[in-house]
Amino acid sequence: VLRFAGVRKAFGSTEVLQAVSLSVKANERVALIGPSGSGKSTLLRMAAGLEFPDSGSVETLGTPVGEGRSVRDIRRNLLQVRAGLGVVFQSYNLFPHMTVLANLIEAPVHVQKVPREQAVERAHDLLERVGLSAKVDSRPAELSGGQQQRAALARALMTRPQLLLLDEVTSALDPQLVDGVLEVIVSIAEEENVAMLVVTHELGFARRIADTVHFLSEGNVVESGPPAQVIDAPLLQRTREFVGL
Ligand code: ATP
Ligand code: MG
Repeated sequence: VLRFAGVRKAFGSTEVLQAVSLSVKANERVALIGPSGSGKSTLLRMAAGLEFPDSGSVETLGTPVGEGRSVRDIRRNLLQVRAGLGVVFQSYNLFPHMTVLANLIEAPVHVQKVPREQAVERAHDLLERVGLSAKVDSRPAELSGGQQQRAALARALMTRPQLLLLDEVTSALDPQLVDGVLEVIVSIAEEENVAMLVVTHELGFARRIADTVHFLSEGNVVESGPPAQVIDAPLLQRTREFVGL
């Protein structure tokens, strides 16, 4: 559902990604780990068509991101990609002036033209699963950070995406709220047929959720494999230092 091939990206004179190739298959869960500034968020943003490679290619849900025969073609490809994705970032994920319910049904009703009653039904179902049934009519400012992120996760699932992109969804949270959000993601991973590309510095979470872990360092994926290897028994010294072995 996602493929990076030879992706290179520089910002000015900073070479962020040198030649990154990796893929995510249907229903597969992939974690990206690596030091701050190693380009993890940049990769995620490229998958969503919010950033484009200098060279190499990105294909999301079968569509080449940022490519096409004309500007119209490119724009249509981008819209197609975004419609099939669920995205949750570190913070500021909800529309602040709307209730939780309105946040959830916005895209399905206004973009996908799903009948309102049907969207409301799915919203109630998802809110129950993330433990927020009591907050349907609250506004984001009335929720804790952890509740906001759980609502953002529910919203990202409303359109039944094939791929969920999660970037440090707990890093803005108070420590006591982190586990609740991570538990919700694990349960979503078990219940929904959705592939995930997850950027996280929570190694315990990466170990539980990921089929494959990629360690990014100095612009390249330097070590990849199951969590039991990359997190618990890395081959490279650089990875060993990063995971604290
Ligand atoms: P962190 O773990 O801190 O979130 P990261 O691995 O997600 O780090 P990125 O956000 O992808 O790192 O950034 C990689 C590098 O690219 C950093 O040096 C950052 O300063 C730079 N960078 C990212 N976006 C831009 C931009 N729009 N303009 C200029 N430089 C940028
Ligand atoms: Mg980042």
